[in-house]
Amino acid sequence: MNPLPRQIDPRKFAQQGIEIAGSVPLSELTRVRELLFSDKGQVEAELAFDIGEQRILHVAGKIKATVENVCQRCLDAVSVDVNCELNLAIQWEDSDLDRLPSHFEPWIVAEGQTDIYQIIEDEILLSLPIVSYHEEECVPHNLFSSGETEAQKLIDAAPSTNPFTALQGLKESLQSVEKLDKS
Ligand SMILES: [Zn+2]
Repeated sequence: MNPLPRQIDPRKFAQQGIEIAGSVPLSELTRVRELLFSDKGQVEAELAFDIGEQRILHVAGKIKATVENVCQRCLDAVSVDVNCELNLAIQWEDSDLDRLPSHFEPWIVAEGQTDIYQIIEDEILLSLPIVSYHEEECVPHNLFSSGETEAQKLIDAAPSTNPFTALQGLKESLQSVEKLDKS
């Protein structure tokens, strides 16, 4: 896939109904890159610019990415798929956003050329999982313990904390006191 052009004039594109598709180098998306294990991966975007209802200039599109996140269990790379769809209305800074139909997200753009990679980066940031893990058991289970298993160990190690066991013990000692009295 060819690289997606970075600088475009979104209003001109919308007026002309232009569609673009291409790949975006992960190394160019520095805010996303900082969160990842590496800059290995692929980002592809399809964007359709158009003018529609109420003469609103907009862009609809899809972003597909496969990136390497950090596995929170083994701290190694884990592959993560990101799929997002966008539907943005191209707006001026002083546009009345309250009048925008609710299926649009506003995209505030000044006149002329703008950096489309910023939008793609924003969308990926919103869709990236906060934590990732390998699906398989990447670290042997007995090498780490969660809070739950620690709690289970405490319960197993202290059977006498069971109130019924404690009552039973009390009953037995009372009986032996009775026996002592009688003898
Ligand atoms: Zn892992």
